Amino acid sequence: MRFTAFSDRAARMVRHPGFYKFAVLVAVSGGGAVAYADARSDPSSEYAQAGPKKKLVVLGTGWAGTSFLKNLDTSLYDVRVVSPRNYFAFTPLLPSVTCGTVEPRSIVEPIRNIMRKKTGPIRFSEAECYNIDPTNKKVLCRSTIGTNLDGNGEFELDYDYLVVALGARPNTFNTPGVSEHCHFLKEVEDAQRIRRSVMNCFEKASLPNLNEEERKKNLHFVVIGGGPTGVEFAAELHDFVQEDLSKLYPNALELVKISLIEAGEHILTIHGGFPDSASNCVSLSRFDKRITQFAEEKFQRDGIDVKTNFKVVKVSGDAITMTNSSTGEVNVPYGMAVWSTGIGTRPIILDLMKQIDQGNRRVLATDEWLRVLGCENIYALGDCATIAQRKVMEDISSIFRVADKDNSGTLTVKEIKDVLEDIIERYPQVALYLKTKQMKDFLDLLKESEGDVVKESVELDIERFKKALSQVDSQVKMLPATAQVAAQEGEYLAKCFNKMKFCEENPEGPLRIRGEGRHRFKPFRYRHLGQFAPLGGEQTAAQLPGDWISIGHSSQWLWYSVYASKQIHFWEGLQLHLKLELQKFGILRTLFDHLHELLNSIEFTIFVAAKFLFKTLIHFFAARYEIVAN
Ligand code: FAD
Ligand code: MG
Repeated sequence: MRFTAFSDRAARMVRHPGFYKFAVLVAVSGGGAVAYADARSDPSSEYAQAGPKKKLVVLGTGWAGTSFLKNLDTSLYDVRVVSPRNYFAFTPLLPSVTCGTVEPRSIVEPIRNIMRKKTGPIRFSEAECYNIDPTNKKVLCRSTIGTNLDGNGEFELDYDYLVVALGARPNTFNTPGVSEHCHFLKEVEDAQRIRRSVMNCFEKASLPNLNEEERKKNLHFVVIGGGPTGVEFAAELHDFVQEDLSKLYPNALELVKISLIEAGEHILTIHGGFPDSASNCVSLSRFDKRITQFAEEKFQRDGIDVKTNFKVVKVSGDAITMTNSSTGEVNVPYGMAVWSTGIGTRPIILDLMKQIDQGNRRVLATDEWLRVLGCENIYALGDCATIAQRKVMEDISSIFRVADKDNSGTLTVKEIKDVLEDIIERYPQVALYLKTKQMKDFLDLLKESEGDVVKESVELDIERFKKALSQVDSQVKMLPATAQVAAQEGEYLAKCFNKMKFCEENPEGPLRIRGEGRHRFKPFRYRHLGQFAPLGGEQTAAQLPGDWISIGHSSQWLWYSVYASKQIHFWEGLQLHLKLELQKFGILRTLFDHLHELLNSIEFTIFVAAKFLFKTLIHFFAARYEIVAN
């Protein structure tokens, strides 16, 4: 039972006399902060658009698109949203849907519900965009509702601004047979299909007249890909088999086998991302060695067969073929396979990339303001795009020119210090480099290249300036393809759109290095909240910023709390938390149907809000006792 360990710790916590006061204070001040955030005056309001509103088209209703819509002041634009999915799905809980721990309805939020709460109108079309035409500023779409209903499902939309948040597709690496024979775990429907398929395997294995070998084959579940999704699914499946299916199919239990196949040396080495960018997204996306080791050992104890250094090369209806340097090619019979090896670029994005001369890249590139490179007024965010951070060395001559205010052809340390803040804002790798090398300022950087004799009074020519900064680009990071990144990008971009007019007259960004004046907005900055890997048995490994590692029962709650309160809005976090809890206690479905009525009652809301904050707080405290500092 998920919350037993928590309740013991909570009981110890709440005996502390000051604790209740603190909890109430946090609850009240938390609520205050929310109210304040809503009531703050918006600088854009007095700059509301005069005349016809600009047409803003948003493609996709995943993490990036939904976060954008939720934060956008929709009264400022004529907003059209196109997506084949008329709901937002909370993907971190998808693996739990595969085994029925969580019901699909608990992890989705209808887009029309979100639209209803906005101040300005939004028009939504359940359709897919099949072509983006940047030259004529239009998108071509077709309905995905495949029925005999009347009406031509094709339409096109003109845009002034286009926000592309189309996500990515599963990557099969062109491995033969994968699309035909494996399940993916990307959408809610995938999770539901997997659940049905697991049950089918058990039913098939229970039919009379099957020999033991056939039963074993039907009950062999293979997960290909040892990233967080594959690991979490394997763990969920193991719990499902041990806790539920063992009671329903007692004779099948000893024939069940779960295998996790990973091409690399260890599982959990990469969190999200495109295969070719993975080597660059170091510290943000890799799980700590201690987590990897803990997960591998736990799986071994649980009897999950982890096969590392095995590469799947073919999948047929009967067997999975894989290769390993010592065993060569092996064929493994299986009942059900789930393919979870990473993501690839959608064809519509590849097509757009060709049109705008980005065809030689693997993923759509934007600048640090999320504007697609090579076209006008198109923004891209989330898994379908990546930020191509400008390198200092590409702009070094321009940086020198901007810093050399007196046009002397040399830079004093003071001249550099005057623009250092702008440079750091424009090129965050400079700050990262200083931090990594434990340097305080530019003078330290200079000492690194010139030796300790360097004084404040030194004058640098371009060559010495180049030399001092020559290593900083080694700190350029690619962001991983995660919900955290997508949601933060959505929020950032919406805020830029909300103050577009205001910032045109009052630019708030850093100095333009290759042009004149300042950038309208500050560039996007990612705040890493840490990453989590649920490992089954109510255990979760958490890696928090600052290299904090927490492994254990409390992490499970920490995980829910962080996701519920940080990843999505406080309010939705509260609702998700409540839905999960109601479900956990088996409260009837009809109650779900009355959920939003209940939430509309103010007393109930205050009660749940206080309880939610209270629990979050306790678990943060409880988790701290188990956290091991690096
Ligand atoms: P998506 O959320 O995939 O949304 C894309 C949207 O575009 C969808 O609405 C889709 O319907 C729509 N679309 C697609 N094609 C078209 C078209 N032609 N026209 C119009 N619309 C279209 N990340 C974390 O940070 N933490 C986690 O714990 C975590 N767990 C995960 C677990 C699973 C099982 C999965 C699959 C992913 C997980 N992720 C996690 C990753 C996270 O879900 C993605 O990084 C995130 O969804 C990316 O957001 P997005 O908006 O770019 O894309
Ligand atoms: Mg000078």
